[in-house]
Amino acid sequence: MPRQCSVFLCTSKEWSNVQLFKVRESEAHSWEEIVNKVNGNHKRKATYVCVEHFRKEDYKMPTYIIMTMKMLKRNKE
Ligand SMILES: [Zn+2]
Repeated sequence: MPRQCSVFLCTSKEWSNVQLFKVRESEAHSWEEIVNKVNGNHKRKATYVCVEHFRKEDYKMPTYIIMTMKMLKRNKE
């Protein structure tokens, strides 16, 4: 299976040089909840999430928390 971002409609999978974060097995369930919330009916397994969904200053934080924060922020816009 090719490495690509698990977020539906994310265009990063078209680039070969985008940074992907591998989802840790211990965090996979949390990630899938988040990814499925974003993907809606397009259910897919959370395997990789690309750098596009993070802010630079967030890298040191646990990834699923960052993504939840960013998604909540996006929903308010
Ligand atoms: Zn992505």
